[in-house]
Amino acid sequence: MPQYKATVVAKKSLGQHFLKNDSVIQRIINLGNIQEDEQVMEIGPGPGALTNLLRDLRCSKLWLLEKDDAFALKHEEYAETKKLEHMKVFHMDALTFDWKSLEGEWKIMGNLPYNVASPLMWDIVSQVPQLKSAVFMIQKEVAQRIRAAEGSKTYGALSVWIQSYCKVEKGFIVSPTAFSPPPKVDSEVIILKPLPKEALPKDPKNLSRLIKIGFQQRRKQLHGLLQKALPKEYNPNIWDILELDMHCRAETLSPQKFQQLCALLFPQK
Ligand code: SAM
Repeated sequence: MPQYKATVVAKKSLGQHFLKNDSVIQRIINLGNIQEDEQVMEIGPGPGALTNLLRDLRCSKLWLLEKDDAFALKHEEYAETKKLEHMKVFHMDALTFDWKSLEGEWKIMGNLPYNVASPLMWDIVSQVPQLKSAVFMIQKEVAQRIRAAEGSKTYGALSVWIQSYCKVEKGFIVSPTAFSPPPKVDSEVIILKPLPKEALPKDPKNLSRLIKIGFQQRRKQLHGLLQKALPKEYNPNIWDILELDMHCRAETLSPQKFQQLCALLFPQK
């Protein structure tokens, strides 16, 4: 497929910053560590910087999710002309993709549109039934938040949620000069590796509720926030059981403590 980087006009509204540095592109692909016959999904292929290499890797499926009409059409035409039956283009907003419908193990990759990266990752880690790994390029500042440990300033709802599902590894930092047009900020490639099944949240709905309650007013003590938001479920004994100071704030609770808190407030019947 021709790389029409030079001629294409980037759409700001779709977070379009196209990779032009071959070594960065290759390093991202290498982090995917794609083996023959694996199922791979790429989010936001754009002109195809990553796609062009992914196509050569003999995946059993290569599915592309692209919102931009022109790029989606180009990839569709290419797959049709070259009779690449393993390739399928979903011309749609990735935020509306039904992640739960994916069958078998999947690796997911993408230089994500920064404006939707956080909600997309939120859904992917919690909804893809068998995620093998994910390699995403995102804003460096968001990557730092995702990797942050409890107690740190950048630790927040996204950190708790993603770390409840995955181990987060730092890939590498990418400077704006690797893109056209260059974004205003540095980017970072991260690798998400799902935790073992037994460690995953048992009650995602209520866990996400709790995380949102705790971080919406992060400077406030958690006990006050819970008492107000969940008057029926709140029980003052939970702090002793969890071995936590009752005056603690959400930002001091590890992802595991959040899960324990969830199990106490919402016991499974
Ligand atoms: N993969 C290309 C690269 O690395 O050069 C393009 C990456 S660019 C940062 C993000 C891509 O995601 C663009 O192609 C854009 O059209 C697409 N995109 C933006 N929002 C999207 C959405 N909600 N769903 C699917 N694709 C989207």
